[in-house]
Amino acid sequence: MSGFNQLDTVLQQRQSAHLYRRRRLLESPQGPEVVVDGRTYLGFCSNDYLGLANHPELIAAFKNAADQYGVGSGASHLVNGHSRLHHQLEEALAEFTGRPRALLFSTGYMANLGAVNALVGKNDAVFEDRLNHASLLDAGLLSGARFQRYLHNDTESLRTRLQRSDADRKLVITDGVFSMDGDLAPLPSLCEEAYSADAWVMVDDAHGFGCLGKTGGGCVEHFGLSQHQVPVLMGTLGKAFGTSGAFIAGSETLIETLIQFARPYIYTTAIPPAVAAATLASLKLVREGQALREKLAALILRFRTGARQLGLDLMDSSTAIQPIMVGESRQAMAISEELEQQGVFVTAIRPPTVPADSARLRVTLSAGHTEHQVDQLLQALDKCKAWGYRETRS
Ligand SMILES: *Cc1c(COP(=O)(O)O)cnc(C)c1O
Repeated sequence: MSGFNQLDTVLQQRQSAHLYRRRRLLESPQGPEVVVDGRTYLGFCSNDYLGLANHPELIAAFKNAADQYGVGSGASHLVNGHSRLHHQLEEALAEFTGRPRALLFSTGYMANLGAVNALVGKNDAVFEDRLNHASLLDAGLLSGARFQRYLHNDTESLRTRLQRSDADRKLVITDGVFSMDGDLAPLPSLCEEAYSADAWVMVDDAHGFGCLGKTGGGCVEHFGLSQHQVPVLMGTLGKAFGTSGAFIAGSETLIETLIQFARPYIYTTAIPPAVAAATLASLKLVREGQALREKLAALILRFRTGARQLGLDLMDSSTAIQPIMVGESRQAMAISEELEQQGVFVTAIRPPTVPADSARLRVTLSAGHTEHQVDQLLQALDKCKAWGYRETRS
């Protein structure tokens, strides 16, 4: 074996399947208008749903904290990286979620790996929605527990699997809002199934926090689910909160278990304290953000109404994630490129991020957008010629 010839072959295969990934160079803050590779676009693919990533109050909090605490946290939480600001944020997140405690992680991916692996192992079983986020699927596989996927949002399918299981510990895991589809998990009925089977429930609400619920408390606030029903509640800070990092909220016992046993918590450097400070500022805006959520809801309605009039294949989503189903990766790429030529930036999401033959344009809306900008997106979509591609083929 010499060099990386084999790898080159695999890369070429990926390219000819229209699945090759390329990174684009962002040269502006997140916002309705973004500068990408030197050109200004109207952007519809950020997860900054409330438009907080570039908010002056977050920036001010970040700067103040950097003046006081410097930049790097310098160590993991268990050595000496756990600053007062991290601690304050944990307390604020616990209060916000109505859980006794919350624990900060450096990323959502790590929070998921950490929580699942601290909770289950050999002799246990994990039950996951088949469309769960990659980090949850990876976490389940890595745990060594018996790993089962149930059909998307299908309570019956979960029930059958739970009934057949004789595992010691059972953990049911679902996205709250599905990241590539935008639909909500039927949490009340999933929790009921889990309860009858004596299983724990973990919800990853990366896309619900900030957007759903009266105070932005996400799916559990939306459905009114207690800690008893959803004992493991995960949220990320890099989406609607506009900063970076993640957290798990739950009981005293859960959080102490994670501090002792969650390796992605223990063996990594704490996020910069200034990020925690910015998140405290963001949390306040989220809680008082009813107007932002109402604006977002109005934009979602406007987009859906307009897209339906254009005959676009929308998904069953009431959230800021409004994917347009395309199917073939090549066609999705072609439409994305045409939008780009018209000054609109929407990335095509292709397998393996989504199941085979379900490539889509993942449109995301933000409270920062205007109605006019949503109309501009619709006009640009209407002008794309690549929509015709599928009809002439099938
Ligand atoms: C983004 C996302 C994550 C990962 O969070 P990061 O903080 O970006 O690592 C986990 N779960 C879901 C559902 C997500 O959408």
